[in-house]
Amino acid sequence: MKITEKIYLLSGMSYGLLGNVYGIVHRDGLIMVDCGRPKEAIPMIERNIKLWGLDGLPITALLITHGHPDHCGNGKYFQQKGVKIIAGQKDADQILRLGDYDPNIFPCVLHDFEPDCLFEPYETDIKVSEDTHLSICEYDIEVLTTPGHTQGSVVYIVTIDGKRYFFTGDTLSAEGSRAHTPILGTSASVDYCGKSYIESMQKLLNRYPDAILGGHGFPRLVPSNAFVAQACMKAMKERS
Ligand SMILES: [Zn+2]
Ligand SMILES: [Zn+2]
Repeated sequence: MKITEKIYLLSGMSYGLLGNVYGIVHRDGLIMVDCGRPKEAIPMIERNIKLWGLDGLPITALLITHGHPDHCGNGKYFQQKGVKIIAGQKDADQILRLGDYDPNIFPCVLHDFEPDCLFEPYETDIKVSEDTHLSICEYDIEVLTTPGHTQGSVVYIVTIDGKRYFFTGDTLSAEGSRAHTPILGTSASVDYCGKSYIESMQKLLNRYPDAILGGHGFPRLVPSNAFVAQACMKAMKERS
């Protein structure tokens, strides 16, 4: 699904699959944000890349929002094609060590442990441990560390044609008939930390996103500063 001039939804809820996958076109190729659940997302991603005539573009980078299988599960597949992978340091460690497949040692990644959630471990190329900027072709991408949903969750802010698109993973998504209901990242992770989550939500306040592109639910393609504030209040209320 083409959602703006440069951004595509390549897999996820609108296609009946878990974990939204986005593609961002740049001058020399395509950046992907997340890569879906192991195996099942690959045919959908490749179908949509072809459908929109993007198959001639090399995928140059894969930005992983966090280390849950519905978001990072196909990293090895893309890495073997030469795609550089970026993820938060703490989740990158778990993505690599998942080769041991021990849910007691790596409960974060295996929160929804079931055989079809197992994925091939891989080494993340760029591990982010503090707020930083990445330069990918013509884009300056701001990376914010937002621990809480998982300890290595990050948010990517990509400015395209003057608009700021926030790729928020499971830290924050939108649902409802007007995409006006926040989906918080407060569940589905055994290493969830409520205190860190609220601090991360507060970090997202007053940054004036022009869109919130979450890991689940619908892309919210309108100015969303009030939406983030609403989500932050909801998280604080849930915790009190
Ligand atoms: Zn998650
Ligand atoms: Zn998820």
